[in-house]
Amino acid sequence: MNIQFATMMIAIIMATGLVVTVVGLNFLIGGGEFFFGRPRLDFLRSRKGANGFAFGFRWNHVKEPAKFDRIKIALYNPFGSPTQIEIQSKYTGGNTNFAEDLDLGPSMGKLIKVISGPEKMDASIMVEVSASADGVSHQYMMSVDKFLKKLGLAPFSMDEYKKKFERKAPKVLYPTVKRSFVADPLPATGGAKLKIAANPEFAEDFSGATGGDAGAAVENFDVKKVWIEPGCIVCDACETIIPEVFEVQDATCVIRSGAPLTDGLRIQEAAEACPVEVIKFDR
Ligand code: SF4
Repeated sequence: MNIQFATMMIAIIMATGLVVTVVGLNFLIGGGEFFFGRPRLDFLRSRKGANGFAFGFRWNHVKEPAKFDRIKIALYNPFGSPTQIEIQSKYTGGNTNFAEDLDLGPSMGKLIKVISGPEKMDASIMVEVSASADGVSHQYMMSVDKFLKKLGLAPFSMDEYKKKFERKAPKVLYPTVKRSFVADPLPATGGAKLKIAANPEFAEDFSGATGGDAGAAVENFDVKKVWIEPGCIVCDACETIIPEVFEVQDATCVIRSGAPLTDGLRIQEAAEACPVEVIKFDR
């Protein structure tokens, strides 16, 4: 009974531990994604003067494929005047990390003037970056002080930001050979005709020249002596060519006694065919 109880308790503890571990891991992964996986909005140094606003946007474009092309800056100032200023603008943007330096017009100048006043404001500013065609948007709420601080401490200009964070095309690990199975066109001949026997225009030039010496007879000759040096591998090649002269036995090849030595051409052919070059002869 005691053993059964102890076993049951161990099982319950292990199951509880497993559930706690899984839940904890989920929280950790979710928390990591929330804090570090969120798209990043960076304030940049604008070159557009008092009405300018420059920013860079970085996000995981594989996880969230979208073309961000709109920005909204809104001041919420419920206890002061004006209570609200909203500025919107469209820009080129991009499908991966991008930076923009925008002239947002007099409204931006007014917003900066209002929040830079001597009185401390209990107001907040929202910057929203959105992809109008994809229905995706990201909002960044911050206090007026933080907004001004970010503007003042912007570390990069738009060009510097692009240089630093622009996504480069991944390196090709396995280059594929580009092949075409269509032959290149023949080079232009400029009207020149091919001087070949098959061209009727040059038939006369080739008449009588049927392959040069190919048809000329080769004169046979007598052989004074023929012999086999050690090393024969009994392959039968010589006997197949001229059996009147060569006889292949069990362990070697021999010259038949009284072999005719008048067919020098075939003896030479047998010597050239011998794979171990042991057939020798004198002319
Ligand atoms: S061709 Fe050469 S190796 Fe072959 S049987 Fe004749 S002598 Fe021997």
